[in-house]
Amino acid sequence: MKIGVLALQGAFREHKQMLERCGAKVCEVRKTEELEGLDGLVLPGGESTTIGKLMVKFGLLEKIQERYAEGMAIYGTCAGMILLCRDIIGSDQPRLGLFGARVRRNAFGRQRESFEADLFVPEMEAGEKPIRAVFIRAPYLEKVGPDVQVLAEVNGKAVIARQGKILTTSFHPELTNDDRIHQYFLKMVTE
Ligand code: GLN
Repeated sequence: MKIGVLALQGAFREHKQMLERCGAKVCEVRKTEELEGLDGLVLPGGESTTIGKLMVKFGLLEKIQERYAEGMAIYGTCAGMILLCRDIIGSDQPRLGLFGARVRRNAFGRQRESFEADLFVPEMEAGEKPIRAVFIRAPYLEKVGPDVQVLAEVNGKAVIARQGKILTTSFHPELTNDDRIHQYFLKMVTE
């Protein structure tokens, strides 16, 4: 199983470390050729407008869409979630648009620039021992399409969601020691 981490900007090193800890073979992706042969791709948090512009510049948007159509799984955290969504409220920034949801950026408000929350996620073996989620200028999904399964919410807003081979989280599990979300993604990749 070979997993790529988009390494244009943002928290990609932490994802790489966590995926390696989970036993995956991981490579950094900056060029279209580096997407060949990948079973899964992680889009890290960072600044979605910056990452999106760089993806356009390097021809990565089309190539990722193409590899997804061929069966590559994708996991987007925070900015990565935004880049996957079809509809970004108030923005025409570049995106992959593969995930059938409407996302709001910086959605939790200024006074809550960053915060932590405990999430109970039975699908991720976190029914009893919650996942500690770190939110940093985080988005949430305001509306999801019929193919999207919401796995966790904060204040009634979706913060973990899945659509087939795509997983999205509003927060940063790579900044904690808890690898259950990465384990879940790796399981998705092999399904
Ligand atoms: N607010 C950022 C954006 O809109 C995302 C923040 C993050 O990835 N931690 O791109």
